[in-house]
Parts: sequence; structure tokens; C-alpha cells
Amino acid sequence: MRDGFAVDADRVVVALDVGGTGMKCALVRPDGVAVHTERHPTDAGRGPSAVVATILDVADGLAAKARADGLTPVAAGVAVPGVVDEARGVAVWSANVGFRDVPLRDLVATRLGLPTALGHDVRVGGLAEARLGAGRGTGHVLFVAIGTGIAAAHVVDGVAATGAHGAAGEIGHILVRPDGPRCGCGRPGCLEAVASASAIGRRYAELAGGSPEVTAAGVVERATAGEPLAGQVWREAVEALADGLATGQALFDVATIVLGGGLAQAGDRLLDPLRMALRERLTFHREPRLVVAALGDEAGCLGAALLALDAAGVGDPQEER
Ligand SMILES: [Zn+2]
Repeated sequence: MRDGFAVDADRVVVALDVGGTGMKCALVRPDGVAVHTERHPTDAGRGPSAVVATILDVADGLAAKARADGLTPVAAGVAVPGVVDEARGVAVWSANVGFRDVPLRDLVATRLGLPTALGHDVRVGGLAEARLGAGRGTGHVLFVAIGTGIAAAHVVDGVAATGAHGAAGEIGHILVRPDGPRCGCGRPGCLEAVASASAIGRRYAELAGGSPEVTAAGVVERATAGEPLAGQVWREAVEALADGLATGQALFDVATIVLGGGLAQAGDRLLDPLRMALRERLTFHREPRLVVAALGDEAGCLGAALLALDAAGVGDPQEER
């Protein structure tokens, strides 16, 4: 327990996780507890300027809500998808929100009059899982979010590496099947073209010959029920994931791999075969602990709060274990 913790009790940070469809927002205490949460639609179709205006209004509203409740907002943190230059605080590029070189950190800081941090959604999600969630207490963590795409965050002692160009962690674009399906990035055989939740649904539909759309969760259900085709598609995806994670482990030698995103909801039906497949691929590397994420879709918002707390130099939930 830290000295001055009682003084921290009335301080909060304003946190926003801006996604393609919705914004998850919260007021978060220095110990990592959200004391107030809100959700707002992003309505990305309105264009980036309108989205930025909404972000500023929502952030301002949260700071006002804090003050009205007798709390002191001390900083703000915003997480966005796409390519993010965290050092300059710029949302460089985003396919689903439409950002092109938006200096979001300075815009929020000016509007709120508070120190502000801007982060990448998956990296801050990984930060939250590493410091407050399933990777808590293990130092070296690889967080892998498997949804419509696959992206990762490598967190060491509570800090997520951003890379020299803000593009670290693109594990979804590790080449795993050179003859495989073409990825959204243009190259055939990327991990996310084979093993993302969307890729699993697509592959099943393809092999089933024009059967109606089946989600990845549906494929897992059918595989568990013993349907051979679903079993084959699921096996292919798990093996590709194991190839990707083995590469990740060779590079990062982490203690814990935390699986997040929609596919992680498969739980043991993902963890058990993936653990076996990963074990087969590791030679001298130590096997990481393989677990599913603990914070659900709150991870991005809590991670944005952690960035804000770091920016303000207030509190450190990691030390509160
Ligand atoms: Zn790719």
C-alpha cells in the first residue's frame, strides 16, 4: 500500500476507448477501479471531424461529472484503433473510424485543461490485462486479441512496446500459410487470414459449399458436437494460431500469453488444443502460461485510464497487488 493513497481517493482520470461502433468511457480511480461508466455511439459514418467533436464533448462531460460528484479529474486517456503515434499523440490512420493524422492528444488536453495520453486500443487493452487482469503479476505478457483481425501487445513490467513507427504487435500479419487465403493487407497467408474469427467463419462457409453464414462461435459449437467439417476448420485455425504464438514466444519469451477478443470466449475449447499445439512447436523455449482475458470489453477503457494515470504520475495499480 502506498503512502498518500487516501489522498488519491478523490482523484480520478477520464478514460475513453473509441471503437468503430461505440465508445466505452469511464472515470477511474488511481487503484484502477471505475467509479462511473458511460457508453456512446461513435457513428463513424459522420466522418472524422464529427467523431472528434463527440470525443471532446464526451470527455468534457465526464470531467464535469467527476467535479459534480466531488471528485478531481487529474488526467485523460484516449484509446483509438488503427495506427497510433503515441509519442506525438496523433491518430495517424484508422480504417473503421476514418482518422487521418488527427492530433487527438493535444485536442483533448486543450479542451479539458488536463494532461492527456493517446494510446492504441489493443496495446492499452494488453496493458490493462497485464497490470490488472489475467496477466497480472507476471512481468512479461503477450496479449493477443483475436476478433475480425488479430493483433497483439507485448507488455514488459507494465509498459507496452509501441515500436519505432507505432506498429509493434501486428502478429496477425505473421506469414503462416504461404499458399493460404489473401489477407486484408494484400499478402496471402497471414495469420489473421487463416485464424481470425472472421477467417474461421469464411473458411467454414467455403468448405460447406455456400452454406449460410456461420460465425466462429458456431464453428466451435459444431466442432464440439462432433461435426467433422467444423472440426477440420477449427483444427486448421488452432494450428495456425499455434504457429503464430510459437513465433511470438521465440521473439518475446513471455511468462503469460493472454488471449482476448471474441474468439477467446471459446474458453477451454480454444485453450486446450492450442496449448497442445503450441507445446509441440516449442523446442528449447519455455512454455508460456496460456490464459483467456479477464477484463472483457472493458480492457481498452481501463488501459486508457492506466495511460492517463501514468501521464499524471498518479497511482500505480500494479503496485497495489
Ligand atoms: Zn496481412
